[in-house]
Amino acid sequence: MNLIILSRNPNLYSTHSLAQAAIKRNHNLRIINPLECEVIIEKNESTIQYQGKKIGSVDAVIPRIGASVTSFGNIIIKQFEAMNVYTCLSSDALSNSRNKVLCLQKLAAAGLGVPKTVYFHQSQDPQDAIKKIGVFPLIIKLVEGTQGLGVVIAESQNSTESILDAFSAMRKSVIIQEFIEEASRSDIRVFVVDGKISGAIRRQGREGEFRSNLHRGGSARVAILSEEEKQTAIKATEILGLNIAGVDMLRSKKGPLILEVNSSPGLEGIEFVTKKDIAKDIIKFVEKRVGK
Ligand code: ADP
Ligand code: MG
Repeated sequence: MNLIILSRNPNLYSTHSLAQAAIKRNHNLRIINPLECEVIIEKNESTIQYQGKKIGSVDAVIPRIGASVTSFGNIIIKQFEAMNVYTCLSSDALSNSRNKVLCLQKLAAAGLGVPKTVYFHQSQDPQDAIKKIGVFPLIIKLVEGTQGLGVVIAESQNSTESILDAFSAMRKSVIIQEFIEEASRSDIRVFVVDGKISGAIRRQGREGEFRSNLHRGGSARVAILSEEEKQTAIKATEILGLNIAGVDMLRSKKGPLILEVNSSPGLEGIEFVTKKDIAKDIIKFVEKRVGK
């Protein structure tokens, strides 16, 4: 098939790994930088151009949209959808998963475990929101943060207020959340493709660091999941309409608590630790959807 990977950088591990898997399975592949796409909107014949030229025949798109270009990338995906090109990440699923409030709202409504979270407008006095969490330390995080950047732990009322002031001055939307201490600075990343678990790792924050993201220096090993954890991860991807996703969960006294669901999850850590060819699972899934 004529396959497009939407990615800003062909040298990123994940992009490269997907490209290798696609080429091995004899697909005609192009890696396209979404920022070099142009959407041309006209009555009944809107199109996408890439580097000033018609995009040509496309059977399927695998979007790998970085957090800093979510809204632009989303419009490009929407245009592919309007042109009836199969995209394994829908624009709606991207919007719902990128925004931590929307994501947690949907998961909680479906009965999945999430840490208690409060969202409020930055123009408001935060005292009341802080009271709703009630204990310190608590977690403050950017609604659209990623890779552990923008996730902060606050030890007291004073530090919470000053951190919130700083985010507010930068006009950034945040949530405050209960801190799950028993997770012991670790979380579980479950990689789900097409409703099945392709791999799972347990990430541990480095000494003195509560954020277990590999980008923040965390380490990882293969995770053995309980049945409840497996079902929680799979259900989360169904609720958000994601075919390919990285579900982040904390192990808590109350069972698995979902932190977020990543719609362009990285392949490097999980393929390295599990020794699984997850890129191949993804390409096989696309083949199943659009036919070889
Ligand atoms: P990001 O999108 O930046 O990865 P996450 O919500 O996944 O944001 O948080 C990053 C990391 O911080 C998590 O992997 C976890 O280790 C830690 N963390 C986040 N929220 C909590 C919490 N409520 N309690 C304990 N640890 C947390
Ligand atoms: Mg995360």
